[in-house]
Amino acid sequence: MSKKIVSDIDPASLAGRTVLVRADLNVPLADGRISDDRRVRASLPTLRLLTSAGARVVLLSHLGRPKGAPDPKYSLKPVADRLAELLNRSVRFVPESAGPAVRTAVESLSEGDVALLENTRFHPGDTANDPELAASWAALGDLFVNDAFGAAHRAHASTSGLAEAVKARGGEAVAGLLMARELRFLGEALERPERPFVAILGGAKISGKIDVIGALLPRVDRLLIGGAMANTFFKALGLETGGSLVEDDRVEVARRTLQEAGERLLLPVDCVVAAEIAEGSTTRVVERSQVGADDRIGDVGPATREVYAKEIAAARTIVWNGPMGVFEIDAFAEGTTAMARAVATACDGGATAVLGGGDSAAAVDRAGVADRITHVSTGGGASLEFLAGAALPGVEALTEGSAA
Ligand code: ADP
Ligand code: MG
Repeated sequence: MSKKIVSDIDPASLAGRTVLVRADLNVPLADGRISDDRRVRASLPTLRLLTSAGARVVLLSHLGRPKGAPDPKYSLKPVADRLAELLNRSVRFVPESAGPAVRTAVESLSEGDVALLENTRFHPGDTANDPELAASWAALGDLFVNDAFGAAHRAHASTSGLAEAVKARGGEAVAGLLMARELRFLGEALERPERPFVAILGGAKISGKIDVIGALLPRVDRLLIGGAMANTFFKALGLETGGSLVEDDRVEVARRTLQEAGERLLLPVDCVVAAEIAEGSTTRVVERSQVGADDRIGDVGPATREVYAKEIAAARTIVWNGPMGVFEIDAFAEGTTAMARAVATACDGGATAVLGGGDSAAAVDRAGVADRITHVSTGGGASLEFLAGAALPGVEALTEGSAA
């Protein structure tokens, strides 16, 4: 897959040109304030490239899941303010995402100006991939830059729909710098990993990640399993899991996976358990065969951390998705923190690590090592779909390019 990238375009051709940019500015908001601006910051390189070349930037994004109608709770206004601070230039917020107000606002933009349109999902046509809505945006300019990796796994009017509409009018749809970076790191890990290649999978459920396991198993040298996902594997081995989170309808697929994987798949050898997974619970460390009928498994144990850390230390390529335990609670965070440290240390030593998943990103932040990890993906669902080998509509729709 080689898609044209915004940096492949001659900057001289951008001056005064209206450029549509779809970013993923879907940030968590609490009381109208942005509680984590990672996605806004991740969109800056593309915006800086375009504004410094003198483009007139029309920025589109969704935020949250409004029900196809305006809802002040999901307004992008706070994002416009933060973006202006970070870009150090004014960002015009347009309180509509389609219609005459948008056209008027776009017509008044000068070279290097940025206008952020209101949440694209205030129109039901966005998620429905309405061609008319896409065409109304495409009428504003002849270059579309899709930088919204986090939304690339959906065929929406503001993603693949807009790309198709711009191309249909003879324009180009290219990848933004963040999109290109995401595709490069995830793609290289899958296509030409330096070995040993170690994948770490955890989190709440097998169900959402079974395709990822299936796609990764033939490629990796080791697959380290943690989180509640491990419990379903324990059950497949006939072990007691007590009151732990187990997906009974996935035990069979877990059993088959164990058979196919052989010694490439590692399961925790010990666990941190408690009667309740709650703040202040009294915890014990037990071997995985010693989990009691009243126990709940909340984290991987210290012996597991040691085994996994050794595998990680030997790795040259690491893909990680999903925490090892209920890291939101201190008593069950140590397994995830230990993995985060091991991955960061491997990166210090020259290994390449790519981390995907919203909770996983929060976990490495909490462990204070996010900056040392090669690439922390901004796309949770999109990175999982990519790792599972699925085509991403938002990427597929882009113009082919010469870049590798
Ligand atoms: P990501 O967002 O990185 O893809 P997931 O959403 O799949 O990760 O999983 C994260 C969640 O999994 C966290 O909220 C964490 O508390 C939970 N989790 C991890 N281990 C366990 C466990 N042993 N029991 C219950 N929940 C767990
Ligand atoms: Mg999650």
